[in-house]
Amino acid sequence: MVRDRGARARAALARNHPEFAATRDGEPIGYVCLGNPAAQEWAFETLDRLITEYNCDWIKLDYNLDPGAGCNRTDHGHGAGDGLFEHISAYYRLLERVRAKHPHVILESCSSGGLRIDLGLMKHTHTTFLSDPDWPEHDLQLFWGATTMLAPNVCLHWGYCDWLGEHRYQKFDPRDPSLTRERLDCYTRISMLGGFGFSQKLPDLPAWVAERFAHHIRVYRETVAPFVREADVYRLTDQPKRFARGERWAAFQYAKPDGREHLLFVFRLHGRSRKLRTIHLTALDPAARYAVSSLDNGKLMTRTGAELMEDGIVFELNEEESDLVWIRKEENGA
Ligand SMILES: [Zn+2]
Repeated sequence: MVRDRGARARAALARNHPEFAATRDGEPIGYVCLGNPAAQEWAFETLDRLITEYNCDWIKLDYNLDPGAGCNRTDHGHGAGDGLFEHISAYYRLLERVRAKHPHVILESCSSGGLRIDLGLMKHTHTTFLSDPDWPEHDLQLFWGATTMLAPNVCLHWGYCDWLGEHRYQKFDPRDPSLTRERLDCYTRISMLGGFGFSQKLPDLPAWVAERFAHHIRVYRETVAPFVREADVYRLTDQPKRFARGERWAAFQYAKPDGREHLLFVFRLHGRSRKLRTIHLTALDPAARYAVSSLDNGKLMTRTGAELMEDGIVFELNEEESDLVWIRKEENGA
């Protein structure tokens, strides 16, 4: 998909197969209409060839447009009223063909508004990138919303990336001499809420930052990943929103299916909020006792489930700082 109309018109496909273009009332709307069987065959052959030639392990399928009501040409094999439905149905079939022929290839869906994050598409892809730009409050707004529908392990997004220009709403530079460990941790932990990754140049990082990344990767693999794969996620605050709107604290509780272990991520964003915040846990056994330990500061306390749910845990954080807390049910007599 090409956002720029001029570039779209100059694309080889536009010259070689002008009949593949989705149009609405004669105007191109920016995508190849897979409701046309010949276009679907071309798309499969192209993907198949690229995967083979480049020995791909992972493909990101972007779709940065709003298709509106879709294609209403009548020479594609679909009707004037069902172009979008036939396009999406054909897209599902295309993905299934790719998966059948290349079962090791991870298919990552991505779209900014292109009707590409839903349960129908999740049946046919492995994971989804929530939005192109990455910065903390944007990420937390998206993750809060996406996890009302999707499991965290299919949500990919980063707390920051080396993306310069218009999307860089919050300046973050891992080479900045004034960068604190707490701020680096906050930005990095945001990526750990779902599938974990980095999107930046690694070779020229300061040594302490590289060591801290290695630490976070270890923590993710050993402690966080099993929760992301298996646990239920509870959103313990209202939704943070971009541009200093919405909640300025965000807390997510991950509860393992057996209820014995929980993980709690707490973030304080920039903007107006108090330095102290009480977070009330949920989904605990009121009568059981739980050991509560911060991965930063060691053991904090032992409390009953009722106390953790009713009285909560008080956190003290500066802006753009975080905590990661492990809550384990104690055996009887422990
Ligand atoms: Zn069409």
